Amino acid sequence: MACEITTRQRAGIINPIFTCQPAGAQFASIGIKDCIAIVHGGQGCVMFVRLIFSQHFKESFELASSSIHEEAAVFGGLKRAEEAVDVLLMRYPHVKVVPIITTCSTEVIGDDIDGLIVKLNAGLLKEKYPDREVYLVPIHSPSFVGSMISGYDSAVRDLVKYFATKTEPNNKLNLFTGWVNPGDVTALKHLLKEMDIDATVLFEIEEFDSPLMPDGQHVSHGETTIEDLRSTANASASLALNKYEGGKAAKYLEDEYEVPATVGPTPIGIRNTDKFLQTLKQITGKPIPASLVKERGIAVDALTDLTHMFFAEKKVAIYGNPDLVIGLAQFCIDLEMKPMLLLLGDDNAFYKEDPRLLELKEKVDWDMKIVTNADLWEMEEKLQNNELELDLILGHSKGRFSSIDHKIPMVRVGFPTYDRAGMFRHPVVGYAGAIWLAEEMANAMFTDMEYKNTREWSLNVW
Ligand code: SF4
Repeated sequence: MACEITTRQRAGIINPIFTCQPAGAQFASIGIKDCIAIVHGGQGCVMFVRLIFSQHFKESFELASSSIHEEAAVFGGLKRAEEAVDVLLMRYPHVKVVPIITTCSTEVIGDDIDGLIVKLNAGLLKEKYPDREVYLVPIHSPSFVGSMISGYDSAVRDLVKYFATKTEPNNKLNLFTGWVNPGDVTALKHLLKEMDIDATVLFEIEEFDSPLMPDGQHVSHGETTIEDLRSTANASASLALNKYEGGKAAKYLEDEYEVPATVGPTPIGIRNTDKFLQTLKQITGKPIPASLVKERGIAVDALTDLTHMFFAEKKVAIYGNPDLVIGLAQFCIDLEMKPMLLLLGDDNAFYKEDPRLLELKEKVDWDMKIVTNADLWEMEEKLQNNELELDLILGHSKGRFSSIDHKIPMVRVGFPTYDRAGMFRHPVVGYAGAIWLAEEMANAMFTDMEYKNTREWSLNVW
């Protein structure tokens, strides 16, 4: 009985957990105000990514493509990228920030987007748009390494690196949220407000839960401004909630501008939310107010109602973004559940050295597998071979077929989730997130008990 950390041995990926690096860079870009990124590659590199953003958030987002074709493979695609910048600036007079995001094809071709940006700054922008404030930012995201997670992490770092400018201290906290939902941002802002902490939330996507207004505005935008990015160098500290989604930017600001960085923990569940608030207290010197102590009490009460009676010993599989998976696993263990299988879906060799996973390896006393560079077949195959019995699956919509085929209750959590209504509106972080998650998990299992006629009676006496 032990916890084992392995890497997928089988060649080839069957049902990937993630999409590619440019998707992560695109997600970072839509968090910035007055920004439209140009993805330098084939149209599909934008089209499918926009589609999953829209499926998940049920909103429209603006992203452009240089739309290269066969001749770019022979002659290079820079001409297309050059034209794309010009067309974009002509059509969108408000746009100021234009990240140019590379893809697998343009990285293999070897298109020099950094050189192109130097050329455009000296030529096109000076000659045709002399009165425009335009920032062309190179983002390298070859998709033959990493995943949308590393693409997001690198893009956030590169955008911060491009804009950060040391001037006067602003006494604010940089809060890198990682790849979250609007509901998470609302929950985090609430905690900051209760603590009376002034923070720059990066990259700010609360408005992705966009109102439909009388003026007919039909596209969603993030709220992070150029000024927010510039002033990251003047903050009193940085706090990156997710090691693999924003951690690089926090580290960069520490190394370059001596802005002290704290990375994690992802505030999922009671213990990690407690740590988050303690970290805020340490960084700012502000006390944790009674209002949050009460919120914590309500959450602990809600979880106590469920933990021993329903969650104890329940076997769960979790897949998705690494920080999310680890945070959920820690939460499930606190609820007396048994995570049996954790799937981390990309080739990051450092996952195996993650202290949170090493702690699981040391402490867990049941058979638990953590698979890095995993795909969804890792779970499906074990279920088909009866090597794995589960009471619950936690993950995004792409893995739902294992739940459907094997009749295992599932709670949708993570990105992309498109087959349940309004999931982006609910937080998984903070005390509110702990309540929501635990109750979703319990209700999924209750419904399953009813349909399978197992222990349904226990709900009568609960
Ligand atoms: S794998 Fe390459 S071609 Fe496919 S979407 Fe990603 S960047 Fe584009």
